[in-house]
Amino acid sequence: MTSHFNPYDPCPCESGNKAKFCCLTIKSWNKKPKLIKPTEAISNFSHNKCYAQKTINCSTKISREHYFSNNILKNLEVNNKVKIIGLPWQEKETFNLIPKSNLVSNILCTTHNTLLSPFDDEMGRFHRIIIKFDEDFNLDNPKNDLSVFCGEDLEKWMLKTACNFIASNQIYRGGVKSNYMLKDEYIDILFNDKPFPENWGMYFKIPENKPIQKFKSISFRSITGNNELQAVEFLINNFKFYLVLCQPANPSLFGKYRPRGMQFYEGDIKKTIEICWQDEKYNEGIFLERKGTARGEPKEWDDYLKK
Ligand SMILES: [Zn+2]
Ligand SMILES: [Zn+2]
Repeated sequence: MTSHFNPYDPCPCESGNKAKFCCLTIKSWNKKPKLIKPTEAISNFSHNKCYAQKTINCSTKISREHYFSNNILKNLEVNNKVKIIGLPWQEKETFNLIPKSNLVSNILCTTHNTLLSPFDDEMGRFHRIIIKFDEDFNLDNPKNDLSVFCGEDLEKWMLKTACNFIASNQIYRGGVKSNYMLKDEYIDILFNDKPFPENWGMYFKIPENKPIQKFKSISFRSITGNNELQAVEFLINNFKFYLVLCQPANPSLFGKYRPRGMQFYEGDIKKTIEICWQDEKYNEGIFLERKGTARGEPKEWDDYLKK
């Protein structure tokens, strides 16, 4: 994918820098993970409401953290309300319009909230680009397109979001709110640059013999067992991703581990999403043929909005 790219054009990661000085390497694209380093001196303070308190580097102020990043909610917003499906307290397969202010919780201090914001930026952009690429196919002259992301940062957004739901007691088991442990391991991965254990992390599930009907959305579904949160299913514009937080007996049931990218194609036109991983062994992408337009949303969505 790098061969035809002018190295002096703006980098497709939207950093504003020229590609040559950003993510374009001789061999391929490589968007490096953001380093989560406190810029100020360590505070030596643990805020008892902050879920990252074990790092002993909290500010004294607690922030209002959105369960889902605010910049994803912005992609979905209508009149300060957000169309949401698949929250733990919602009925199965139903859509609700929820005020954005109901989707926050006091679970992180301002320092730790700010430290995680690069992950929000990355997933917010990923969410927006999937919508944009799909809508661009409806133009009179659709063009080839490319966008570049960091896999580790997207994966850490998923972990951060799982922590948000655990910390605010929003994990349900069989329809009942249940307490799950927010493990030290999660905090070390997020803030101390510890790698995910083997087979933990992001998966992408391709539905078998069934088209994906893209629509603007975000959802969170927990998969629990042995009193643990074992995985989370995220539907990102109805594309199914998993964050696996255990050693699965059969990892392939969750789909492709750490996909290197996604390409949507229709005829000769290709819209490519590069997902870069620092370990080159994750080198298999996913190719999705676009069939027909996806301008609208599922029918039940329209019905809901009429209510
Ligand atoms: Zn870049
Ligand atoms: Zn904190």
